[in-house]
Amino acid sequence: MDKASQDRAAALLHHRIKGLRPGEPIAAPIVSSATFLAPDMDGLSHVYGRSGMPTWELVEAQMALLEGAECVSFPSGMAAISAALFATLGASKVLMLPSDGYYVSRLLAGQVLAAYGVKVLEVPTLQMAEADFTGVDAVLIETPSNPGLDVLDIAALCGNAHAAGAVVICDNTTMTPYLQRPLDLGADIVVAADTKAPGGHSDALFGHVASRDAAMMARVREGRRLSGAVPGSFEAWLVHRGMETLELRLSRMCETAAVLADRLAEHTAVRNLRYPGRPSDPSHAIAAKQMSGFGFLIGFDLADAATAERFLAECPLVAQSTSFGSTHTSGERRARWGDKVAPGFIRLSVGCEPAEPLWQAIRATLDAL
Ligand SMILES: *Cc1c(COP(=O)(O)O)cnc(C)c1O
Repeated sequence: MDKASQDRAAALLHHRIKGLRPGEPIAAPIVSSATFLAPDMDGLSHVYGRSGMPTWELVEAQMALLEGAECVSFPSGMAAISAALFATLGASKVLMLPSDGYYVSRLLAGQVLAAYGVKVLEVPTLQMAEADFTGVDAVLIETPSNPGLDVLDIAALCGNAHAAGAVVICDNTTMTPYLQRPLDLGADIVVAADTKAPGGHSDALFGHVASRDAAMMARVREGRRLSGAVPGSFEAWLVHRGMETLELRLSRMCETAAVLADRLAEHTAVRNLRYPGRPSDPSHAIAAKQMSGFGFLIGFDLADAATAERFLAECPLVAQSTSFGSTHTSGERRARWGDKVAPGFIRLSVGCEPAEPLWQAIRATLDAL
């Protein structure tokens, strides 16, 4: 992690405390009030719980510090992605998105946005940076892509997309702002599922939208108020707590992922291993240029679907579950969701376990397949 990220990590742990008055709680309070005392409405920070809530704002302040941008929080990653797309698109507008990215974004575009007159173009992540953006109004990118871990050059894509007048929205879920800052590379909007590493304990759904374009953020914020897609205070509190250890967790997770990726690649049961941190990986050169860590996700193929399911069921230190970024290592055969990957493809999300026992468990399970 670079020096600027380390400085932000240090500041994050003090940002709220520095603003407290004597006698106020050091730990963040959970405020869950549908309505606020409002004899008149002028100049009040809070009036009604759909418009703003102190506990969401604590998370938004943390995210703003890391993104270097205004942030608005949402009850899930998909709610954040929906808000960004609704703020940028309308009838007869054109959206380009990855054909190999998070599948729910594709379903949202194809089933919901298309019904409102948005035209949807799907392009593979590896072809997006140099795609023809003529007539495109918004581009949704995901890099590294989930689950394939292909990486695209964000700055190059933004140059080409902006030249054609398109807005660039980057889904930064797989990286978090500690490992990649798309706004610094030219993206207009960042969206993320904080359900993953930021919350980090598989106990809350959450998301955020970040942008340095004040007019855009005003539309996103107003969209949240009008649609009513607001987070719960308890979930916000959990994510606020998770954020305090995000940098610590990520450094362990990324370090262990690098160790496991090298060892997995050598194992005879493993094929086509993908990890952007390995110099031989097709993603490595661009990843090294635009990311400040290589992440905690590893992709690889086992022989077939049955072998992959057996590995996941039998490895004692791999939770057989969807999602990623939690304290525990988890893994999933992504073809079961219809992702365009081999039937035996596993997405492994490396957790916070010490590396050696984790590797011993994985190796013993692979050896016994
Ligand atoms: C999980 C995920 C989402 C959706 O987040 P939810 O909180 O489940 O709605 C969006 N994009 C990516 C890349 C994801 O991995």
